[in-house]
Amino acid sequence: MLTGMVDNHKNRIDSLPATSDCVCDIGERQALMQSERKFRMLFHNVGDAIFLWELRPGEAPVLIEANEVAARRLGYRLGDMPGMTLTDISPMALDELAVTVGRLVSQKHGTFESAYRTCDGIMAPVEISSHVFKLGEKTVMLSVARDIATRKAEEVKLTEMYHREKSLREALEAEIGKRVDFTRALVHELKTPLTPLIASGEALLEILEGEDELRLAGNIFRGAMNLERRINDLLDFARGEMGVLKVRCQPLGIAPLLLDVAAEVSPQFDRKNQSLELEIDDNIPLVLADQDRLRQVLLNLLNNAAKFTARGGEITLGARIDGRMLQLSVADTGRGMSPEEQAHIFKPYYRVEDEAGPNDGMGIGLTLCKMLVNLQGGDIWFESEKGRGSTFYFTLPLADKME
Ligand code: ADP
Repeated sequence: MLTGMVDNHKNRIDSLPATSDCVCDIGERQALMQSERKFRMLFHNVGDAIFLWELRPGEAPVLIEANEVAARRLGYRLGDMPGMTLTDISPMALDELAVTVGRLVSQKHGTFESAYRTCDGIMAPVEISSHVFKLGEKTVMLSVARDIATRKAEEVKLTEMYHREKSLREALEAEIGKRVDFTRALVHELKTPLTPLIASGEALLEILEGEDELRLAGNIFRGAMNLERRINDLLDFARGEMGVLKVRCQPLGIAPLLLDVAAEVSPQFDRKNQSLELEIDDNIPLVLADQDRLRQVLLNLLNNAAKFTARGGEITLGARIDGRMLQLSVADTGRGMSPEEQAHIFKPYYRVEDEAGPNDGMGIGLTLCKMLVNLQGGDIWFESEKGRGSTFYFTLPLADKME
């Protein structure tokens, strides 16, 4: 194109009338020469390699002119370049080149990624933007080639990172899958002997009459039930970690459920001489919750309250409306938690051994509670003070407030 412009200038100069004012003629020539110098400087100093090719039917494009950037990048002397053919620097085979050039001729312009071969045979990735036009009798193609080596290297790095991340993720998923399978098998193995144990314990409680026998049978029954609950928690926790833990929410009356749960845990509180108070607002509308999962959360929180509260302590189970949500709470007057403990208690496997007594938990109860509450559309949080007790709160959506 530049050659064209220079030629055009020449044409214009040549075509100036010979009779025109001599001063004006010289001035105009000087202006044109200045303009040519300016364009030539721009041509050789832009950031991209520029090539002007002559297109001849049935032949490979022949280079008319290139800029200094092109010569430098390809490693040729600028003066040696005119006359080279596109096959000298393009990695494309002749027939592929013919198709590409043919397309450019019919579309007049186009941008695509390719590569140029340097004089040392190294492939340099480029983005080529080409325009085809007439220059006098000739059909020419002006190609501007942008060096995209850095971009390509980044793309390659990114692709490598993506594949590495993908294979790591797949390995992790396979590991988690194996763990869930193992946990499921373990749960099955553990629960199989537990079922007759629970049934027999329950039957013994009905048959036996002596105080000592009843106490022993009660221990067996409660121990087996407790074990079953922990096994179920373990499986649910593994499911939650895999993201396959499900809840089925439906409108639910809360007061009867709370009374039922309180009745279930009261023997445990009695044994430690702890009191269990219920503070339930009147006329609580239906909540949207999964009954079994809600029961599981409440039992976990109440069991913790009993476990971490000394004999004679007080536990309060509360329910009140808070805007569009029902807020449930389990408060105890137990050992409470230090700020350091508080920072970790929703993390899996976190448990604190206390000087007051051994902690036989697995440290997954609260993590599971959080998973289950969140799955039911609520939040869970707590307030606690070391030595003074803790209150755990969680919310559930009210059924009639849901759109
Ligand atoms: P675990 O199943 O072992 O009880 P949790 O996830 O339920 O595990 O609880 C984790 C830790 O949080 C417990 O080991 C205990 O240190 C602390 N914690 C939970 N509930 C209470 C509570 N009501 N009072 C004091 N500490 C508690």
